[in-house]
Parts: sequence; C-alpha cells; structure tokens
Amino acid sequence: DSPVRVVGAGLAGCEAAWQLAERGIGVVLHEMRPVRATDVHKTDNLAELVCSNSFRSDDAQGNAVGVLHREMRALGSLILATADKHRVPAGGALAVDREGFSTAITETLEAHPLITIAREEIDDLGALGDGPVIVATGPLTSDALSQSIRALSGTDHLAFFDAIAPIVYKDSIDFSKVWYQSRYDKGDAKDYINCPLDKAQYDAFIDALVNGEKTTFKEWEANTPYFEGCLPIEVMAERGPQTLSYGPMKPVGLTNPHAPTTKAHAIVQLRQDNALGTLWNMVGFQTKLTYGEQKRIFRTIPGLENAAFARLGGIHRNTFIKSPVLLDNTLRLKNRPNIRFAGQITGCEGYVESASIGLLAGMFAAAEIRRVSCPPPPKETALGALLGHITTDAESETFQPMNVNFGLFPPIEAEGGENGEKKRRLKGRDRKLALSSRAEIALMRWIEKNRVHPG
Ligand code: FAD
Repeated sequence: DSPVRVVGAGLAGCEAAWQLAERGIGVVLHEMRPVRATDVHKTDNLAELVCSNSFRSDDAQGNAVGVLHREMRALGSLILATADKHRVPAGGALAVDREGFSTAITETLEAHPLITIAREEIDDLGALGDGPVIVATGPLTSDALSQSIRALSGTDHLAFFDAIAPIVYKDSIDFSKVWYQSRYDKGDAKDYINCPLDKAQYDAFIDALVNGEKTTFKEWEANTPYFEGCLPIEVMAERGPQTLSYGPMKPVGLTNPHAPTTKAHAIVQLRQDNALGTLWNMVGFQTKLTYGEQKRIFRTIPGLENAAFARLGGIHRNTFIKSPVLLDNTLRLKNRPNIRFAGQITGCEGYVESASIGLLAGMFAAAEIRRVSCPPPPKETALGALLGHITTDAESETFQPMNVNFGLFPPIEAEGGENGEKKRRLKGRDRKLALSSRAEIALMRWIEKNRVHPG
C-alpha cells in the first residue's frame, strides 16, 4: 500500500496521521514550517496552538464541546490524550501548557515507526499522485496550495475570509413578537423569521451599532477586504442612519400578524441555517463588534431579548472550502475521491473541532484502505452532528465556519402528551443532559457495531 500523504501537521493533520498509523497504515506527514512560515505560528512544533491555550469546556454533560472531548477520548485521540497529560488548572475548561503540549505531539509523531515527517511546502496536490491524500492545511493554507485547491474545487468554492453573521437558537426566540414570512410571500413562508422595530427602537439600535466597541484586524489580516455585498453591519450604519432600513433591514413585503395595521420602520430577518431548523442566522449581520457588544445590542431587537447565540459574528482571514458542495459524507472530494479534507479548512472552527474532523478523516481513510465499512458516526453524536453539518446539512450558499454546538444535534422529542396532557419540551440543563446521554449511547453503539476503535 502507498502511504497516506497528510498535508499540514496542525491539530487536524497530526490527529489524522495518528489514527492511520495506529491502525497500521504508513503516513507521510508534510509540514511546511520551518521552511515556510505562516503569519501566526511562532515555533516549528507540530500542532502548535496559535492563540489561546484552551480546548474550552470539558463538561460532557452541559456543553457540546465537552461531549466532543468525551467522544475523541473514546476513539483514542492523540490530541485529547496529550492535552490531558499537559493539563493546567482552568476551572471546568481543558487548558494546556502549550509548549509541553505541542512538543509532546511532535515527539510522539516523530517516534512513530509508521510516520515519516517531511518538512516541505506542498504547492500542488496533483504532484502527490493518485494515492490517498488528506489536506489539513488550516485557515492559513499557503498561497500556492490555495491556488491548487482552487483549481480542483472551482473559484467559487474556496474562501480566504469568513464573514460570519450571528446564529441564534430558534428555541430562544420570542414568537409572541416575531413571525414567519418570506418577503412578498416568495418561496416557503417558513424560510424567514421576522423581527419588527419601530422608529425609536431602530434609531437606538443604529446609535448602539455606531458607538459599540469593535474588534480590529490583526496586523497580518491588514489586507482583509470588505466586499460591498457583505459589509459589516456597523460599517453600513456609519454610512447613514437609514442605510440599513433601505438595505438588509428593509421593512417591505412583510406584514406583522401580531400588529397587521402598524407598519414597522425596519425588520431584521433570520434565515434557517441548518436542515434541522434549530439554528437561524441573522441575515446581513456580519460584524466586527466585540462579542459582548453583539449580545447586548442584538438583544435589543424585539423577539431576541433572550436570544441564545450558537455563534457570534466576525470577519477574519480564514481559508475554507464550501464543504457541503464539494465533499461527500466521509470528507472525500467528490470529483477526486482519493483526496480528503480535514480540519478548519473544511469549515469547522476551533482547535477541538479541527482535531475531531482530522480524527474522522484518518479513520475513514484507514477503513477505505483496509476495505472495511466505516459509516459516518450517527448525528446524535457530537462527531456526527459536526460532520453532518459541514458535509450535508449546512445551507451551502451561505456556508460559514461553525463551532460544535447543541443546535447541530437532532432535537430531543417532547415528552408526555398521554391522556390529553400537554407535551413537555426539555429545556436548559435538562435538555443538554438528555442530548449528552443520547450522544454517549449512540457513540458506544456505533463503535461496537463498526469496531472502529484503533487496535
Ligand atoms: P492548523 O493548526 O493551522 O494546521 C495547519 C498546518 O498546515 C500548519 O502547521 C501549517 O504550517 C501547515 N501548512 C499550511 N500550508 C501548507 C502547505 N502548503 N504545505 C505543508 N504544510 C502547510 N481556535 C481555538 O479553538 N482557539 C483559539 O484561540 C483560536 N485562535 C485562533 C487564532 C488565529 C489567528 C487563527 C488563524 C485561528 C485560531 N483558531 C482558534 C482557529 C483554529 O481552530 C486553529 O487555527 C486550528 O489550529 C486549526 O487546526 P488545523 O489543523 O485545521 O490548522
């Protein structure tokens, strides 16, 4: 068998290489540092943490990223095992000694008899031949390789910047104030949720946007362009107080059933963001406001007073592909199935998520080489929910990077309803506990059925 070529030895590439090698498959792990640097990595170590030293919440009962930790541990993740070994105190979070962590990953992979580390930039995927390849070059993929990916994927399917509008959990929206309707009743009535603002609410909202605290671009992001079609909402507000009421917040073609005779001055629309209908994105609300300001200001919108955000908005330098169009459900490029993608370049976001998609890519590639079946994990698991989102469930036209969150999991059915009694929907901590227990059982069944644990 020819070795699997894993391109990029970050969180995803290291995990993919480990999963393959632990299943007895040879790997060449190509890493361009130190031959070619990125704008943010500071060392030559593999799996360098470029910013925070935290893998976020380790609470597998109450937090989706905690559930992902548990699943990765169950599947023999190198990244999680090494993080556990180099843990530093951080309350309920899993934080690590960054130097100790990435040095240990580097030494472990260098010592593995089935892994060869090649310190070189890969600038042409075609030159790697027809054998199995996993591309895990992350948000700062080198320019030359980006061009090669673009040639394979098509111009419209590779982005160099994200432009993220906040995403709200549907069950946190107050439906006594909002309503479903498509503008001019085009398309399905349930395509949009509408939040009406009167003149005073709109004026206060614009004032808050203009004066709200913003984050700035980092020096290495200085050339981040603003595209006229997706300007930050506060930049539009700065152009004039009515710019938004004539733009993404225009109140036309919509009638508020709660107040049919009152005309709204402006309307915020939310569009369904995943096939399950649990997540809704605020249309046109990409922003550089700080996270704290986004929560404060967006909760002044009628209906969103108690909004819980699955993710907040942002604009960053970030190379990622349109995975829902390009990849199949085992992360293979549909038009070149010997090539898989993994990590942040697939449109997941975060250290843990990137490593988890690396883990799956490694497992899927190993199963294919061994000619054994390895179906994707069920969507009730965190791994399956995240994989399902990026490969099939996300709205492909507006696809933007996503963290793991409970909104990606299929909702828990309402309970009760016997003898004419009203059905009860689980809420808050109870809902998270139920989703977490369901995930645990689903993962164990999947592991047992498919014998997917290494060794
Ligand atoms: P990376 O870890 O970036 O690994 C990709 C590797 O590929 C790198 O080692 C790179 O040198 C190599 N490479 C690139 N091109 C080539 C090539 N052509 N040939 C060979 N090798 C190549 N996530 C968090 O959870 N917390 C944070 O605090 C956080 N902060 C971030 C800060 C910044 C500035 C950025 C850009 C991202 C941040 N992220 C953070 C998001 C993300 O989770 C991390 O970037 C994560 O490291 C992604 O993992 P990855 O394996 O996909 O990519």
